[in-house]
Amino acid sequence: IEEGFIVLDENKNISVVNRYAIDILDLHKDEILGKNFVFLALGNDVNNKLYNFNENGYSSFDLTLNGRIFLFIITKIGEDYTSSHDKTSIVITFFDVTELRLNDKMKREFFQNASHELKTPLTTVIAYEGMINNNLLDNPKEIANANEVILKEAQRMKSVIDDMLTLSQIESGAQISEITTIDAKSLVLYVIDSLEVLAKEKNIKIKTNLRECELVMEQMDFDRLVRNLISNSIKYNKANGSIKVTLTENYLRVEDTGIGIKEEDIPRIFERFYRVDKGRSREQGGTGLGLAIVKHISLKYNFKISIHSKLGVGTKFIVLFKNE
Ligand code: ADP
Repeated sequence: IEEGFIVLDENKNISVVNRYAIDILDLHKDEILGKNFVFLALGNDVNNKLYNFNENGYSSFDLTLNGRIFLFIITKIGEDYTSSHDKTSIVITFFDVTELRLNDKMKREFFQNASHELKTPLTTVIAYEGMINNNLLDNPKEIANANEVILKEAQRMKSVIDDMLTLSQIESGAQISEITTIDAKSLVLYVIDSLEVLAKEKNIKIKTNLRECELVMEQMDFDRLVRNLISNSIKYNKANGSIKVTLTENYLRVEDTGIGIKEEDIPRIFERFYRVDKGRSREQGGTGLGLAIVKHISLKYNFKISIHSKLGVGTKFIVLFKNE
């Protein structure tokens, strides 16, 4: 790991500064050696810490510089390690922790979102179950209705958990099934066949133009990728709309005549649990994880995804299998 390293002498003047610190802090070595630490230009907060730095002290904090997050550690050189006149020297070290901090943030957000996704249906289940148990629903129609809600919410929780497990499996890089040469055309036809019922409910036509295509991958991954894209183009389509699925040796394209996605939402739709319209997604049985799964499968096999969408007109997803 590259690390910034600066030493201040007993007068808190700069006596040592390494190359990394010079580059990151954009300093000129000749102009700062022997000068007061304020010339490091670390900002008021850090300057105050250094002014008030207690000789036995220790301080660590994050500082953002040019969009990167650095962990700074300020310590005193121990008496045991230096000649006596140097014993009040202060050592400043720092290193880039941007990825670490962003990962932590992502994990925290994921747990918050996942808990929320599961808590909402569970609260409904408990409430309805309570009503049935306490005989608050007396007519059979109301009870049947409550049971239906409980089943639907329980299924929703199962879908969320299934998608979370799938995502964590793909992300961990674990190989679940065999990697084989798959016949992509028959698999696309198989997925379309199984989604036809959903499409019929909205009177959506699925047109195809499929050429032979062989891919070397886990069959399940291809199924998930195609299933998520096509089921989205049904879920977010209009009644009497259409979908066109094209497969060639090099790419899969799924186009729909659906509601489209606003330009500012496009970069976010691959994030876990991000939905443009929460209500609509839930109503359609969405978990908010489908495209995150598509993204991670694409990363696993080095596929490239591109998306073109126009609000109110439709959306086109292209998965490029070979990166030329
Ligand atoms: P969900 O389970 O909500 O469908 P996804 O991760 O599959 O979650 O998609 C995230 C969001 O992206 C959806 O909630 C929806 O707002 C938007 N989206 C995905 N595919 C389409 C599409 N074909 N047309 C319009 N919006 C889409």
